[in-house]
Amino acid sequence: MEKRVMKIFSVILGGIMVLCAVLLVGIEDIHSKSEVLAKEMHDAKQYKETIANRMQDEIANAEELKSFADKGQIRIAIPSGVNTEKIQFNEDVMTRFYQIVIPNAGENYFDSNPIMGSVGNIDDFSAYTDDGAAFFEITLNGIYDTKTTVENGFLYLDFRNPHDVYDSVIVIDAGHGGRDVGAVEGNVYEKNIDLDIVKQLKAIIDADPSMKAYYTRLGDTNPSLEERVKLANDVNADVFLSVHNNSLSGFDARKTSGTQVLYYANDATQLSERFATICLDTLCAQLESTNRGLVNGNDIYIIHNSKSPVALVEIGFLSNPDDLKKLQDSGYQRRCAQALYDSVKEMINSFKE
Ligand SMILES: [Zn+2]
Repeated sequence: MEKRVMKIFSVILGGIMVLCAVLLVGIEDIHSKSEVLAKEMHDAKQYKETIANRMQDEIANAEELKSFADKGQIRIAIPSGVNTEKIQFNEDVMTRFYQIVIPNAGENYFDSNPIMGSVGNIDDFSAYTDDGAAFFEITLNGIYDTKTTVENGFLYLDFRNPHDVYDSVIVIDAGHGGRDVGAVEGNVYEKNIDLDIVKQLKAIIDADPSMKAYYTRLGDTNPSLEERVKLANDVNADVFLSVHNNSLSGFDARKTSGTQVLYYANDATQLSERFATICLDTLCAQLESTNRGLVNGNDIYIIHNSKSPVALVEIGFLSNPDDLKKLQDSGYQRRCAQALYDSVKEMINSFKE
């Protein structure tokens, strides 16, 4: 009997030991599982924090982007060590091209310095580095007055409506250019005299902070007639002034001198006629030039396509020896420019009356 009890007891004991072993293994398993779980929970918490931080960053970025977009602004980081005065800004209003060149920016500049801001004023843009300089090139979707501000290591670009910045916005067109030389007298080309006068006019306008002028050309280029009048229409110019000089051929050519101004006779507002009259009277008075009157310019492309009050001045005759001599003189060209500036000013003042 005792022997049997012992046997049963040992069997039970053996069973308990097996059970303990199983339990121990199980506890070990649970323990390692709980460690994994704790690590997973820790990872999840970190992940949650990362996501939360990223979301905050994204919200901050979105808010920053929105503020750029609202302002129509672009922001470019300036690399440390770059002299901001060495940054170049190049603009061509005829092609609406705007370029910024940052010297010594480094080859990988744009990888680590993304450009932020609004694309509301932009048709196209490209950013690249060449020979260590960073180039940022924009094709604008209109004519803007571009303001640049350097602040806290960033360059900010603002594209503003010129009419919001200046009292008056005008377009000046120097006639002809490039292969189109205009009237010719000996070795004198009209295109050069037209441009010389416009450059003198630019110097006068540049000294007037209330007036902004855009020029169809300031070099020996030949924009198409469509491009010239498009500039005036796109910028909604207060006046559009085209500067030319005349020439005659034939028996009496040398005897004919003086000033003519072409205008848009079909203009229902009669603003073109008013502007042309002011130009004619002012030029004749200040240059003591013979008044040859207003001329109906309805057939001239830039005249009948202009949405702005337009005048095309023919200041003098290259075919007249006196006019030719005067028109080549820079002092006389300066007087022509002054008369044109005064005409524009008088026309603009007449809008306010
Ligand atoms: Zn001409």
